[in-house]
Parts: sequence; structure tokens; C-alpha cells
Amino acid sequence: MTKTLNLSAQSVFRTTNGQPLIIAGPCSAESEEQMLETARGLAAVPEVTIFRAGIWKPRTRPGAFEGIGKVGLKWLKTVKEETGLKTACEVATAEHVNDALKQGVDILWVGARTTVNPFSVQEIADALEGVDVPVLVKNPVNPDLQLWLGALERLNRAGITDLGAIHRGFSSFDSKPYRNHPKWNMAYEFKKLLPEIPLICDPSHIAGKRSLLQQISQEALNLQVDGLMIETHCNPDVALSDAAQQVTPEGLRQLLDSLVVTVANA
Ligand code: PEP
Ligand code: MN
Repeated sequence: MTKTLNLSAQSVFRTTNGQPLIIAGPCSAESEEQMLETARGLAAVPEVTIFRAGIWKPRTRPGAFEGIGKVGLKWLKTVKEETGLKTACEVATAEHVNDALKQGVDILWVGARTTVNPFSVQEIADALEGVDVPVLVKNPVNPDLQLWLGALERLNRAGITDLGAIHRGFSSFDSKPYRNHPKWNMAYEFKKLLPEIPLICDPSHIAGKRSLLQQISQEALNLQVDGLMIETHCNPDVALSDAAQQVTPEGLRQLLDSLVVTVANA
């Protein structure tokens, strides 16, 4: 790919203290209480600066919890007002974009099941024309670097200049012991090709279970990623989605304390 991206000099996805950016929050917004309790816990973890929550949940199979919908955007707003954390949610359609922006969501992200579809990415890009909002793009579910870059390009052509990428692993027939195989060489290639775009690792969706989070997060930091997005829930075991991989805010604190930030990160 030729490097034609027009990016802002500063990015909300790069810290200025050399430490990794930490995005945390529940897989899904479930209730106002769950959002606020989780956010209050996270506000006490100093490394966390961005609160994530899925409002609309693309699920692989029907019948699972598909997100609370628009009402959750109000809870995100309350989280921001109460804690001062920036907020982020996934968008998959133009309507999601418009609803999220109307409620003041600070950062949008494109999910792995959306990045694979250029029509969907273009719809999101069109809805963002003339809007100045930071956007993260998760890798597509399949290990196709061009699709990932193409999605970033579409958004950039629509005028989005603060872009980040999320490495969340790749689905395959057998990805054991992971939920989504990390294929670290894809992250490495991405960094080599587009060093100007911050790369955030999402160990939660790579792992699929809490026990692997530490190891994956450390491997990502060893690769000099710019940050981590880690799913965090006030009561993970009863979470309506991705229960096995979420940690409590206290669990997140312990996880972060256990990580070694290497010299080039610092
Ligand atoms: C999520 O972040 O909860 C999510 C649905 O992730 P992905 O798009 O990586 O599967
Ligand atoms: Mn999830």
C-alpha cells in the first residue's frame, strides 16, 4: 500500500508518558448500575483513561444477547460525567454512528466482523464525513492485512485523521488455546507497514479466558504495542456476553501491576 494517510500530529491513542494506553470496560453495557459500578472501579485504576462498552453487539450466532441498544449511550454519558473517563463504543452502521455522536461518545470503534465488509466500512465512513472523532479499527476476523488497511483508508478518506488499530486475533477452525489466534506476525507486519498508526492489543478477545490475559498482554507489550484494551466488568461471572474473559477492576489493577513495560515502550 502506498502511504497516503493524512493523520493528525497528535493522537488520543498515544500517551505522552511512555506508558501503554489502557482502555477498559465491559464487553456489553447491561444496566446503568453495572456501567457505573464498573466505571467507578476503573476510575480508581490510574492507568485507565478510556471506558469502553458495547451498545450494539454483533454475535456470531443468533439467540445470544445482542446489546442493550441506544439507552446504553445515556449510561455512557453518565459514566463520562461522573468519572471523567473518555468513552468508546462499537459502531457498525450509519445509524449507530449518528446515535453515538449525538450522545457525545468520544471514540468510536469498528468491530472485527465489520472490518471484513467494505460496504459496511464505507457506510460508516460516509456517516463520519466532516466529523472530527477518533476511530479505532479492529483487525478483520480473518488474517487479511489489506482489509484492515483498507478500512483505515476508507475512514481517512472521509476525513478521520485520528486513527488507531486494534489487534484482537483471528478466528480459525482450531485456535486453541486461544479464542482467536494472535498471529503475532500480523501485528508485527502492521507496525512495520503503518508505524504512524497506534496499535492497541485486545488480549481479552484473543484469550477468551481470564487465565491467558497476563501472558498475552505481556507478549503484546514486548512487541511495543501502544496500548491494551481489556474487558472489565464489576461482576464478570454474570456478564451477559464474554463472561469467561472479563476481569473485575481490581483484577485489572493486579494484571497491570504484573506487566513489565520494556524500555522502548517507556
Ligand atoms: C468486543 O469488543 O466486545 C467485540 C465484539 O469484539 P470483536 O469485534 O473483536 O469480536
Ligand atoms: Mn466482548
